[in-house]
Amino acid sequence: MSYSNAQELLSAIQPASGGTEIFDPATGELVGRVAQNSVADLDAAVSAARTAQPAWDALGHEERNRLLNLAADRIEANAEALAELLSREQGKPLNGPNARFEIGGCAAWLRAATAYEVEPEVVVDDGETYAAKHYRALGVVGAIGPWNWPMMISIWQLAPSLRMGNTVVMKPSEYTPLSVLALGHVLNEVLPADVLQVVAGGREVGEKLSGHPEINKIMFTGSTPTGKAIIRSSADTVKRLTLELGGNDAGIVMEDADPKAIAEDLFWGAFINTGQTCAALKRLYVPESIYTQVCQALTEVAAKMPMGVGLDENNVLGPLQNKAQYNIVADLVQGAVDSGATVLLGANPDSEAAGYFYPTTLVADIDPQNDLVTKEQFGPALPIVKVKNVEEAITHANSLETGLGASVWGSDREQALAVAARIQAGTVWINSHGTIDPRIPFGGAKQSGYGLEFGLDGLKALAQPQLIKG
Ligand code: NAD
Repeated sequence: MSYSNAQELLSAIQPASGGTEIFDPATGELVGRVAQNSVADLDAAVSAARTAQPAWDALGHEERNRLLNLAADRIEANAEALAELLSREQGKPLNGPNARFEIGGCAAWLRAATAYEVEPEVVVDDGETYAAKHYRALGVVGAIGPWNWPMMISIWQLAPSLRMGNTVVMKPSEYTPLSVLALGHVLNEVLPADVLQVVAGGREVGEKLSGHPEINKIMFTGSTPTGKAIIRSSADTVKRLTLELGGNDAGIVMEDADPKAIAEDLFWGAFINTGQTCAALKRLYVPESIYTQVCQALTEVAAKMPMGVGLDENNVLGPLQNKAQYNIVADLVQGAVDSGATVLLGANPDSEAAGYFYPTTLVADIDPQNDLVTKEQFGPALPIVKVKNVEEAITHANSLETGLGASVWGSDREQALAVAARIQAGTVWINSHGTIDPRIPFGGAKQSGYGLEFGLDGLKALAQPQLIKG
């Protein structure tokens, strides 16, 4: 069936009574209630997933692809209800690169997981020896997700897993369980029973999942400290891991860049989802020769972008999703202000606001070692660091332990490519930032994680390679 609004969808996924209340971060109003699952519920889900896995695998690629495309149809049929619920629970506006965009991404990434053939690869065939590499299902995949893009990241985890013949148990963030439960509910209208299950619970459920003897692989997206905890708790069972962790992406502006031409893309690179994006531009390095012009052009664009309650069709920026994240952003900006940095825009939150709104903030003339530059702010506050030249910017860009994405902005493509090659990051974009694509593999360098998602590489990461010789 199709749900016409979030309330109808909520009625389908909420417990009849009780449960934990979830509040809208923009208004403080009640969104809905979620039944908290225990570790015993997790055990039952994993056991059901294990039982369901052989039949799901036996369907073969073609039939699984057919069902996954039907599941993508269900997302599209329920797009407005899903977007409304996502907006209310996560806070992100319906418009701009936010809730409706995220639902569109869910359908697109789900379909993309069906778009590749995963054939056995002949490794040696010289007349004497024959060997081929096959890609077998792993078994049951545990998926643990964050609160910033709860539905899209769930799809990134579940779509390649299911495509490759695995069954999936998902543990959503405790901040955004309703979005993931609703998504799972819609997908399960067409998927066989127990192939995809959502177990809503706290850290203890995530911890149990990552050490569970019946789980073969963990797909994790979240913070670097939690990623490290998962490496430890999965060690005894030698689980496969894909870890997409925190980032602190650098943007480097070249001296030949056109400030006005790049300002809007720079803005969205940094402020997509109100800055709560793993691969957002989080520190910008600009040579002194064009520093003033870049600051001015960015301020003009940023000042025009409306922030407010997500369901208001005019807004393109929303609140921070939770109080803890609000405090991180507020403290980092205050620290920068106290250090003598210049506030170009924002930095004065309205203490009377009902929601966790932190204004769009641009901070200039900031020390490159200031915490707002070197720590992940994960919110709407961008530090703009003045550098003598691009060499200095490259040194700063590579100076941190994270390396998810980075970007180079300039008019000469050859020069930009030469700089990109020297940046320690999993992806380097030229004249854009964070513009992910389901056909292009994505993953972190250094402590931003390991393993690739998306594309054919992403599918192979959800399989056990098996070599057959003879
Ligand atoms: P988080 O690490 O606090 O939580 C993520 C998930 O892990 C939640 O579901 C949580 O319940 C669970 N968890 C917590 N402790 C656990 C444990 N010990 N074992 C197993 N699971 C546990 O992250 P968050 O605050 O929800 O997300 C924000 C962070 O995620 C940021 O650092 C951001 O950069 C990162 N992120 C990365 C990507 C990426 O693709 N690299 C994407 C989105 C977000």
